This record gives sequence, structure tokens and C-alpha cells, in this order.
Amino acid sequence: MVSPPLVKTMSKVHLSTSEAKKEHKPPSQEDQDVTAEPKCKRRRSMELESCSWNILPVLSDEESREIAVLQAYAAPVLSKKETSRLVREVSTLYPLEGLQHLKRVRACRDRDSPYPLEMLLCLTLGKEEGRVPSLSELLPEEKVNCFGLGQPFLVLIPSCPPLTRPQFQEASAYWPTSFHENKQVTEALTGQLFSREEKARMQRYMEQAIEVAHQGAEKGNEAVGAVLVNPATEEVLAVGHDCRKISNPLLHGTMVCIDLVARAQGGGAYNFDSYPLCSFAASVKEAPGAGVTDCFDDASSSSILPYICTGFDLYITREPCIMCAMALVHSRIQRVFYGAPSPDGALGSRYKIHTQKDLNHHFQVFRGILEEQCQQLREKSQ
Ligand SMILES: [Zn+2]
Repeated sequence: MVSPPLVKTMSKVHLSTSEAKKEHKPPSQEDQDVTAEPKCKRRRSMELESCSWNILPVLSDEESREIAVLQAYAAPVLSKKETSRLVREVSTLYPLEGLQHLKRVRACRDRDSPYPLEMLLCLTLGKEEGRVPSLSELLPEEKVNCFGLGQPFLVLIPSCPPLTRPQFQEASAYWPTSFHENKQVTEALTGQLFSREEKARMQRYMEQAIEVAHQGAEKGNEAVGAVLVNPATEEVLAVGHDCRKISNPLLHGTMVCIDLVARAQGGGAYNFDSYPLCSFAASVKEAPGAGVTDCFDDASSSSILPYICTGFDLYITREPCIMCAMALVHSRIQRVFYGAPSPDGALGSRYKIHTQKDLNHHFQVFRGILEEQCQQLREKSQ
């Protein structure tokens, strides 16, 4: 596999489906491309469009976890007009370092309470356990004039800022927090990120991956299939099945597809002559990358190349392993869609390589397209 050197700059892909919405250009070389979908299959896919599968984003651990809580003291605000002074004085004494996501004051939750507001005072850390101190113990009078505050009580507060809407809702049930919402993550979590047309297209790509997995398995290979797509043109660039059992232990479905695209771009490390089902579209040669070009350090050099999979999407029946996940990082894939999870998978199950902050490329990962059929393929291989 020919891989250009890593660039030093951060290459971060943001959630976006706009690329996938560009005008459809039908492939001109359909007659000779084994990667082109048969027309009858397309019709069948459209009929299957009433999806029986759900597509879910594979988010980082920080975005997926339950909200952790800390214990703190709060007190009712007896005199509303004292609120801003009290906030100022209490915040100076107890600045809530590292907890800037918390609102200092909340509306009282007890509707029968005569007091409309409650104020967060400080964490219980270091204070005597099981006993709620008095106001004067918590707020020395030389620091805070307690006029306008009622008796302290215990509360649970979220210890980290919420990163997703479900986390925000969970956190708010404890104590109000600020929340900088990523609308596309919210849409992805509620299944609204992709249109009906996009989902129908995704299903067709996964059907093609399943088909090639079956064909590869008939020849004694592991039942894993993969399809590499340019979402900007909706073209299938490469189709491959797992070849590890027969030919080379490194030739997992993902590695096959990346190498096929590298091959189409004039590189590649492996020979697929004995695997006619593993093929690339002739058009890859004309349009390497999807318009984004990362350059070598020497800008005057004529060897300006895109990374192998810049702007491309991978559809694969099984969650990639750690080797394949790293190959996807190095080749600068844009998005990965996998059908069934794998216990050793590196994009959600065992690791989440795509969310590793230390790596200089990140990509989006979604799971669940035709999960049941992909799961059956897994069982077939066991
Ligand atoms: Zn692998």
C-alpha cells in the first residue's frame, strides 16, 4: 500500500451530509466496471426502502456515558432581590473550579415552596459526612452576608458538562447546566441525520457488501464484504471481500478496499488477480480524492497527492479490527458504516480508534445498516 507521509496539521472531519447531497453523476464505465450495481438490484433496494434497521452514530466514551454526580450544598433564596449580591459573594468564596457548566441559581422545584429560587453553595468534599452544616459554618460572615438565604440542604450535581442532548436531559434532572449542542449529533442520535433517499443509498451499498461477502465465503474466505464509495458522486470506487484465510492474513475486507483504491491511484501493495470479485472502478484514476488535497511539505514539488481515501466512505459488513481502523486513519477515510459489531472491533466494541484525541485524523462512524443480515454473515464465519 502506498501511503503519503502524515501531514502535521490537524485534519478533522466534521459531521456533514452536504457532500452526499451533490448532484448525481451516473458512472460512464458501468458496462466494464464490476463495481457498478446491476439495475435490477437497485429496484429491489428501493422496494426494501421501508428500513427495518436503525443507523446509530458510534460516539466517544465521553459522549456515551451516564452523567456522574457529586454531592453539594444548596440553600433557598428567601429574598429574590438579594440574589445577585449573594451570587457574587458566594462565587468569590466558592468559585466551583472545573464546574463552570453549572448554573449557580435554579428555580425551586417544589411548587409549594414559598421561595422561587435555590442557590448552589459549594461541594461537600472535605466537609463532615452525614451532617448538613449551618449557614454560618459554610459561609463565614466576614466573607458572605447571609441575609436572604435559608437553611442549607444536600443536592447532587453533574460533575461534567453534558456533550449530547440525552446527557443534557439527564444532567438537568440533577441541577441546571449550560449545554453547547451539536445539532448534527442530536439528529444522528434521533435517527434524523440522514434523509430517506440517503438511507436507501446506504442500504444499496451495504447490500453490495453483503453480496460480495457471500461470494467470497463461497470460495472459502471469511464472510466479510466491503464497499468504498465517493459520496460526492455516489460512485462505488472499490468492492472487496476478506481474503485473509486463503491468501494473506493481513487482507481483511477494509485492507482490500483501501489497497484497491491505492492500486487505482497507481500504488497498492497486493495482487488481486486471483480475486476477480475484488475490484475498483476505472473512474478512481481520474478523480482521486473527493476534492480535498493534502500536500507534501514541499509545496513546489510536483508530487502533490491526496490521501488515498480523503472524502470517501467505507461500508463494511463487520466492525473493523484495530489494524483496519488504523489503516482507515492513515488513509484519511471520511466516514465508516458497519453492519454488525465485532467483539474485537476497534470502532465501538473494544476500542474507539476514531475518537482517539491523540491521532491526527478523526472520522465519523455509524453502525446498524442491515445489521441482522450482517450478523448472519458473522455467524456463517464462526
Ligand atoms: Zn481487520
